[in-house]
Amino acid sequence: MKYLGGRIKMSNESKHIQGEATGHNGTIQYEVDVTNNKIEDLKILKHSETSGIFNQVIDKLKKDVIEQQSFDVDAISGATVMTNAILDSAKQAVAAEDVTLTPIPKKQNVHQTTRLRADVVIIGGGEAGLIAGCRALTMGQKVILVEKNGYLGGATILNGSNVVATGSKVAAAAFGDNGDSPERLAADVARECRQTNLTDMTTLMAHNIGPAIDFISDFAGLDYMKAQTQTPEHSVERQVELPSASSYEFITKVSKAFEDHGGKILLGAKVAQLTFSLAGEVNGLVAEAQDETIKIKAHSIVLASGGYGANTEMRGAESKGIDYYGPMTSTGDAYRFNADLKLKTHDLDWYKVYPHGVETEPGIAKLTTYASKQATDMGAIYVNRQGKRIVNESDVYTKFRDAILAQPDKIAYLVMDERTWQAFYDLLVLHDFTAKEIEGFFANQDKQPLFAKGSLAEVAAQAGVDVAGLQQTVATYEAAVKTGQDTEFGRDAKFLHDFEGETYYMVEQRGRFATTLGGFSIDTKTMQLIDHQDQDVRNYFAAGEVAGGANGHDAMPSMMNSWGISSGYVAGAHASENADAAKQNGANDLNLVAIVGTNASKSYNRQLLHAMRDLFEAQANIDICEIKDLPLFNEDLVNDVPTSVQTLSDKVEDADGVIFAVPEYDHAIPAALKSAIEWLSCATHPFKDKPVMIVGTSLGIQGTVRAQMNLRQILDAPGVDARVLAGNEFMLPQGGAKFDENNHITDPGSVNFLKQCFSNFTDFVQHDARELVK
Ligand SMILES: Cc1cc2nc3c(=O)[nH]c(=O)nc-3n(C[C@H](O)[C@H](O)[C@H](O)COP(=O)(O)OP(=O)(O)OC[C@H]3O[C@@H](n4cnc5c(N)ncnc54)[C@H](O)[C@@H]3O)c2cc1C
Repeated sequence: MKYLGGRIKMSNESKHIQGEATGHNGTIQYEVDVTNNKIEDLKILKHSETSGIFNQVIDKLKKDVIEQQSFDVDAISGATVMTNAILDSAKQAVAAEDVTLTPIPKKQNVHQTTRLRADVVIIGGGEAGLIAGCRALTMGQKVILVEKNGYLGGATILNGSNVVATGSKVAAAAFGDNGDSPERLAADVARECRQTNLTDMTTLMAHNIGPAIDFISDFAGLDYMKAQTQTPEHSVERQVELPSASSYEFITKVSKAFEDHGGKILLGAKVAQLTFSLAGEVNGLVAEAQDETIKIKAHSIVLASGGYGANTEMRGAESKGIDYYGPMTSTGDAYRFNADLKLKTHDLDWYKVYPHGVETEPGIAKLTTYASKQATDMGAIYVNRQGKRIVNESDVYTKFRDAILAQPDKIAYLVMDERTWQAFYDLLVLHDFTAKEIEGFFANQDKQPLFAKGSLAEVAAQAGVDVAGLQQTVATYEAAVKTGQDTEFGRDAKFLHDFEGETYYMVEQRGRFATTLGGFSIDTKTMQLIDHQDQDVRNYFAAGEVAGGANGHDAMPSMMNSWGISSGYVAGAHASENADAAKQNGANDLNLVAIVGTNASKSYNRQLLHAMRDLFEAQANIDICEIKDLPLFNEDLVNDVPTSVQTLSDKVEDADGVIFAVPEYDHAIPAALKSAIEWLSCATHPFKDKPVMIVGTSLGIQGTVRAQMNLRQILDAPGVDARVLAGNEFMLPQGGAKFDENNHITDPGSVNFLKQCFSNFTDFVQHDARELVK
């Protein structure tokens, strides 16, 4: 990082301080505007970062800096290198200009737990998650999308938006009636991956990509058009792309449409675990955000968390020697937070390997596809370390990828003349490289990555390629150009061009991958994940790269986007139908803990809770918890919390609400209950903001009225901080005569009153959560 010393002083008070920070892809030039020692603005003058990410991140960073009048603000998750570089550099630059900032401390938020409810919750804000969310919204659901990064887009945002449009109105407009069909697309997929695909997934993709493209075009105002490049793997023209040729456009427009239609996006919230109903069904998730744990309950959960290419521990033998060029945030979190579910997976060691890449950091590649393709179209050749050509350079990518991987060092060298280099260079600069970076490659003493310029012998020597072998190869190739016949590899004559001049360029080409092709297995009839016994995991759906198989061992160009978009579209519909069914069945997705307020073995209050559990079976899962195994509270023990206390505390913490059934002893609550609350307010604090309902029954006619008042007072104490529903008191007098042998309340009037109180309580529990999802 560097301070340029480039201050432009506008007046005595105003300073415009310029500096440079080193981002992922090179220099970021910025300006900090300061007036009277106050930061007014942080402007970016120039950068070469991935725009889709940078644009989303920089506004948030600027807002934090100005609000807090400091560069000691939090980096943005998922973009920490870039944001920390700007913060560190700007801090130094401003200090060097004698600016004394007066930081406005960020409101110290105590870590809090937020509870939300939705019909459908989506994990992951890439294309699969967003389209699933949009579909569910149009089917009338309340949808929350949770994204761990401080920005949307995942791997999607890095690609060129190319996708197939088979069967869509978009395709009809772009290609007319050209003989394409879902069956033809499925056949192309199967052929290109050598029949390694899961056919039911491929069929689903082929039949749904057209409707999905039309749906999202209408929903988000996307304007797909014929893609500039129609790759030869597809037997017919069917590839489309957005006008900007970037999925940043997809993410921006689709996320806006999602929010405009009432969807809620939570950024910087990393899903860490799922939650389950008492019946053991998935019914929500827990996400960790800054200063906040977010617990979301939903009828349907859609897993769309992308691939795991950045997780080197998960990568298997097939990725050895192949560089990664995908996002560092594709860490495969889902394989951790789903571990207990024992989900079925398949082909976790399959990667989409491309032949065009240069290793810019150890193990990390940048792709050169557009530049390399242009170079071979202009006559460039691929050679190995012996200087021998290895493939028909104009064939489909898989052929020369396999040829490169067949080399002992898994490297090929692209040889071109000055004329071709210029075109190659222009495309590198257009796609993610900087001029300075390329200059540095040539200057590198250790020749990593290999970029060489000179005579044929010089470039060969720099690359460690056999000089005589290369000279012989070039002579043979030039003879083939003259005759128009590449007898060695059968390259099409239109791609055979002479090398012009005496200056040659040589650039390494390594296998690289960004996309993982295996993943969790799904039931394509329901889009639900399946477990080791091939059973559907109820309420739990998946879409996108996290669910592998549609493209087999090798995705044709455009087919990962096609899978992400089509599977998201279908999963969104299934998740929505599942939510509707749950709502129609009056699904009991409320998890309540009911605490028996005594340690006595015979208790009418225990009976009352059992009665409530049966009575409200359809509305809530009620877990009846005892306090009789808890030791008497003793402050000496709070640093060594007994297991029985911790277990109860965890249950309360995880519950949507708590019911106390309280007997009355000497005009107050029993000592055993007071002791339990002391544990759960001193050693732990699970009642904080927890909705609470109090019920009670007694042998006499007052039905625990004093104990209930006493309990309300206790639950209001600092450290307990429960939210007890005001004006909701259920007391059952003469409890000894009010239960039958099944613990059911016999008095219809009391049952009706209890129903009313319970309904008030469930509304109360759901109130806050509803606020977020209108
Ligand atoms: C550089 C590059 C170029 C590509 N080019 C093409 C191409 O030209 N054509 C093509 O078809 N395919 C291409 N692909 C592949 C394609 O982009 C992906 O397969 C596809 O976008 C995956 O979409 P997705 O929605 O499943 O996952 P993603 O877009 O990766 O989205 C998943 C999201 O889930 C989030 N997430 C993960 N874990 C959690 C968690 N614990 N809590 C909350 N959120 C979480 C991630 O942060 C991410 O935002 C390319 C990929 C890359 C990286």
